[in-house]
Amino acid sequence: MFRNSPLKSVPQRILVVVPTPAHSQLGAPLTYRSELPLAAGLLVRVPLGKREVLGVVWDGEPGEATVAEKPVAAVLEGMAPLAASWRRLVTFAAEYYQRSVGEVALAALPPQLRELDPAQWARRLKRGIAAGTQHTSAQGPDLTPEQAAALVDIESNEGPFLLFGVTGSGKTEVYLQAVQALLARDPQAQALVMVPEINLTPQLQSRFAERFGESTVAALHSGMTNPQRLKSWLALHTGAARIALGTRMAVFASLPHLQLVVVDEEHDPSYKQQEGARYSARDLAIWRAREEGAKVVLGSATPSLESWLASERGRYRRVAMPSRVGAGALPAVRIVDMNLQPKHAVFSVQLLQAMHERIARGEQSLVFLNRRGYAPVLACNACDWKSECPNCSAYRVFHKIDRSLRCHHCGFTERVPRACPGCGNVDIAPLGRGTERLEEHLAELLADARGPGGHPPRIARMDADTTRAKGELQRQLAEMHAGEVDVLVGTQMVTKGHDFRSITLVAAVNADAALFSADFRAPERLFSLLMQAAGRAGRDALQSGASEMWVQTWHPRHALFGALKGHDYPAFAASQLKEREQAGMPPYGYQALLRAEGRTQEAAQGFLAAAAGAAAQMDEAAGITLYSPVPTPVQRVANVERAQLLVESASRRALQRFLARWQQQLHVLRPREVLRWAIDVDPLVI
Ligand code: ADP
Ligand code: ZN
Ligand code: ZN
Repeated sequence: MFRNSPLKSVPQRILVVVPTPAHSQLGAPLTYRSELPLAAGLLVRVPLGKREVLGVVWDGEPGEATVAEKPVAAVLEGMAPLAASWRRLVTFAAEYYQRSVGEVALAALPPQLRELDPAQWARRLKRGIAAGTQHTSAQGPDLTPEQAAALVDIESNEGPFLLFGVTGSGKTEVYLQAVQALLARDPQAQALVMVPEINLTPQLQSRFAERFGESTVAALHSGMTNPQRLKSWLALHTGAARIALGTRMAVFASLPHLQLVVVDEEHDPSYKQQEGARYSARDLAIWRAREEGAKVVLGSATPSLESWLASERGRYRRVAMPSRVGAGALPAVRIVDMNLQPKHAVFSVQLLQAMHERIARGEQSLVFLNRRGYAPVLACNACDWKSECPNCSAYRVFHKIDRSLRCHHCGFTERVPRACPGCGNVDIAPLGRGTERLEEHLAELLADARGPGGHPPRIARMDADTTRAKGELQRQLAEMHAGEVDVLVGTQMVTKGHDFRSITLVAAVNADAALFSADFRAPERLFSLLMQAAGRAGRDALQSGASEMWVQTWHPRHALFGALKGHDYPAFAASQLKEREQAGMPPYGYQALLRAEGRTQEAAQGFLAAAAGAAAQMDEAAGITLYSPVPTPVQRVANVERAQLLVESASRRALQRFLARWQQQLHVLRPREVLRWAIDVDPLVI
């Protein structure tokens, strides 16, 4: 008699992706044992080293067994597996942005999933997902002819669409009605609506919730608690919620019935993740929509040059809305030549006068200080010399630490000259000023102004400092909307999206730093910022005074301001694209940065130099340009030295092929003195 006769079930070998760091053995999926076959896309808990972690069962055949594989610890049951389309999105994102699949997959899931054991998970599922009432008919306003035409265009064509609508043209209403039509047409269909800023999401969320019903809309952004995020995520995964409304992270939402994707303010830099997998949520949204056969609508008053060029070439379908809803006109743009003002004047006499008049009439003003150009650039106030790079269409950054001027594209470096090379003036200085000092100064300058009831001017400031405390931003916005503020001073935070009704004057007091930034995208960002800022003025046609946008500059004849005066984004885009084409820069070329951090600048740069050396031996480096290693604009952070190396190619495919291969070489280099390194594909800040 055989004692060991029972029929044992044959253990299956399955692939699981776990949150391995990008740099551990290229982060390939790991093999585990399971008594039962497990479908790809299921969530499991598996042992990893001494820990037990959340993983996702992945596609593909496990390789030959080399060591005894560990068993899967548990399966999170009761949930449909993550769809093949979701897994493809994650795989693509990992490959494109040079990270591990596990890292991207796990970062794309709600954080709370990682903490729940199977029992907690079962309890969570039992609570269920409130399948609420759906209001696919709650009615919007009658569309303007432009909005109606845009909607028809989107309904009857393929896309991708670039909805090019001026500030106040009512783009949001077009999104709402496009979603509405979809949900009414198809009882399962889901839509993904992305917005750049957390602080704008609550307003938009209530607009969507009013229109479609609370439970139809699921928000996804980093301002939510982990339980809230899990709730939204589950509602979307099960199909109970039909609309995902969120920031860049929402691009990875599990949406089994996705049919429409909207990317509002598609040009906004916050769509680019700046750590870990540095993905562009806008670009992934376009990829995802194409892959899943969904429509995609990108909206902006100042599209990214990437999207604009695509619409010029017919790859995207451009849908224009050139007029504002109602009778509110775009503000008249006044360019103030600061060369003609008293020396050291922060505000011109004319601008102060205009603000006095606003206060007297009970209208609001918004003073905006562009701080994005914080990296110091040297300029001469006596002539028009700037620290331009002779080899690039860019400006060299002033590095105080060694008093050098460096180009971050080609590495060209010189010591800061003692005097202006143009005119000999010794008074060359970096540009810059903060909002706090500005607010104080403005209070002095406007002290004798009086409001309609005789009240002294109420000046408020809104920036990252004043809105840090919870609820402060909402409170300040409410104060502004209630008319309790006469002049609001702020950073770009105040320029985005807000539907302020009583602002008739917007002023940018020092826009110049961005004109001479080392970053070739700085003019593009400045232009869109100024257009957005102008968009806050004159939204209510009932205001008595004509609305105005004031820009103070030392360079009044700069082409950027000419285009701004005419609210002429196409002219601005055309001139920028011409420069970019000549320089082979995006969107005509493709870039990646290899970043390294070390205890010393030599260590960081040494690794980058070794990396460049390795590249020189590779066949894949044909058609790829590698520039010299340079310190990053902010060279040292927390005593860590940072350096970067720019890689360029005219071909996206060639660049991708090169990076995939190079990445392997970089692992082999095993730099001991380098603390961290990472590749940033399509970097937004150079
Ligand atoms: P954009 O996003 O293009 O800057 P908004 O969507 O903020 O514009 O719309 C501007 C203003 O016009 C908002 O106050 C909005 O409620 C209003 N609005 C939009 N469409 C209509 C419409 N068809 N009829 C009346 N008001 C509208
Ligand atoms: Zn000079
Ligand atoms: Zn250069």
